[in-house]
Amino acid sequence: MSNHYNVAIVGGGITGTALLFMLSKYSKVGSIALFEKYDDFATLNSNAKGNSQTMHCGDIETNYTLEKARKVKKTAFMTDHYTDMYGYKDKYHLKCTKMALGVGDEEVAYIKKRHEDFKELFPYMELWNADQIKEIEPAVLDGRKENVMAMGSHEHYPIVDWGEISKTFVKNAKDIKEDADVFLNTQIIDITKENEKFRLKTKDEEYTADFVVVDAGAHSLYFAHKMGRGMELSCLPVGGSFYYSKKNIIDSKIYTVQNPKLPFAAIHGDPDITNGRVRFGPTAPIIPKLERYKPAKIREFLTTMKFDASVVSVGFGLLKEKDIRNYLIKNLLFEIPYFGRKLFTKEVQKILPSIESKDLEFAEKVGGLRPQVIDKKNRQLLLGEARIDDGDNIIFNMTPSPGATSCLGNAYKDAKLVTDRLGIELDCDLIEKELIRDN
Ligand SMILES: Cc1cc2nc3c(=O)[nH]c(=O)nc-3n(C[C@H](O)[C@H](O)[C@H](O)COP(=O)(O)OP(=O)(O)OC[C@H]3O[C@@H](n4cnc5c(N)ncnc54)[C@H](O)[C@@H]3O)c2cc1C
Repeated sequence: MSNHYNVAIVGGGITGTALLFMLSKYSKVGSIALFEKYDDFATLNSNAKGNSQTMHCGDIETNYTLEKARKVKKTAFMTDHYTDMYGYKDKYHLKCTKMALGVGDEEVAYIKKRHEDFKELFPYMELWNADQIKEIEPAVLDGRKENVMAMGSHEHYPIVDWGEISKTFVKNAKDIKEDADVFLNTQIIDITKENEKFRLKTKDEEYTADFVVVDAGAHSLYFAHKMGRGMELSCLPVGGSFYYSKKNIIDSKIYTVQNPKLPFAAIHGDPDITNGRVRFGPTAPIIPKLERYKPAKIREFLTTMKFDASVVSVGFGLLKEKDIRNYLIKNLLFEIPYFGRKLFTKEVQKILPSIESKDLEFAEKVGGLRPQVIDKKNRQLLLGEARIDDGDNIIFNMTPSPGATSCLGNAYKDAKLVTDRLGIELDCDLIEKELIRDN
């Protein structure tokens, strides 16, 4: 086996595996390899345990503006077409009722307006009053004093097991391109550039590649910094934990209205695809690590964080705002046994007023870490994805939420870059026909 590849992908989460699939199926790439350091694909954030298992298309995510929803919808539905094409519907991609719930007069007015404003983009979304909600999810009205209104739909497939989808990307890539090499238990420890080629080192081997795509979560920024790239960026790792309900009281995905001052999405209730239980979350504690539930590696964290005055300034900027300060403190407290559960119950009561703290339990070892990127030059916390690309044949992707939803959209963008720079053909017409269509 040759140790040289046209394209090497570092990281076997949903982002790296989607690119492996995209290049194997739709391009004429000569040789390709994917390196994953653990013993399976998608064991971290892309695993069903690591995230909220949602295909976020912007219809119930009240933290998305119309403009953002328009963009996200286009890439989100690429997953829908993919799971249709390969028959994964009702297996790794499930249908359920979904709704964005407004509580109290102000939020009710907001939901009505949002439904009107988003009607053209999401014509299938219905407006539901309290009686209609009661019929769909009686527990939402049980013990409720405030006025409620929801916009929702019964027609969609919003639940996705992104971990299983990652594995299907690898399987389908290998079925199409037998010689696509996939390495598990293979950690890349260093990437260097020599004579227009990139050298990737593992503990025992060395590989070279014409083009490298680093899809290694927070470690993408770690590698970029080691290579002296993306120095204007830093990373704020934001965890996300969940609580399980002991009773299966809802069947729908129920999202709440976002406080516009807060940087992360409000908690929601979701049926868990792996066990059918109802999960609430995610919380948003800041955790000084690059991988959740793995031993902390301080040197990697500090290399990635690039701590300096501008990072402190972003931190102070966030803490200065009372709503954000309280939110960050509250989210740390949610992690504390017993007290955290009591506090978290108050959040869940916005969705289910009669739920009690004894009905909830902390979901152990469930949840992931979002590598939120800080733009140090503009002293700003970036909420979406970030790509470091300085025109060379190496790119680094950081993909906080909704990174799983945009996996095929990101893979398409990266595939265009890779094939364009290497002078390889990419069948954009077939991609548009099979994965984009009328999104
Ligand atoms: C609590 C929470 C809820 C979320 N909910 C949603 C949601 O509902 N919908 C949604 O769309 N998104 C959601 N997200 C975001 C989504 O989970 C991520 O955007 C997505 O999983 C990122 O995928 P990835 O492949 O880029 O990174 P990861 O899944 O983190 O994968 C990176 C891979 O790189 C590997 N790697 C790292 N370093 C090396 C190395 N040196 N050598 C080899 N391999 C390496 C890792 O082992 C890992 O497998 C959520 C995230 C969190 C934390």
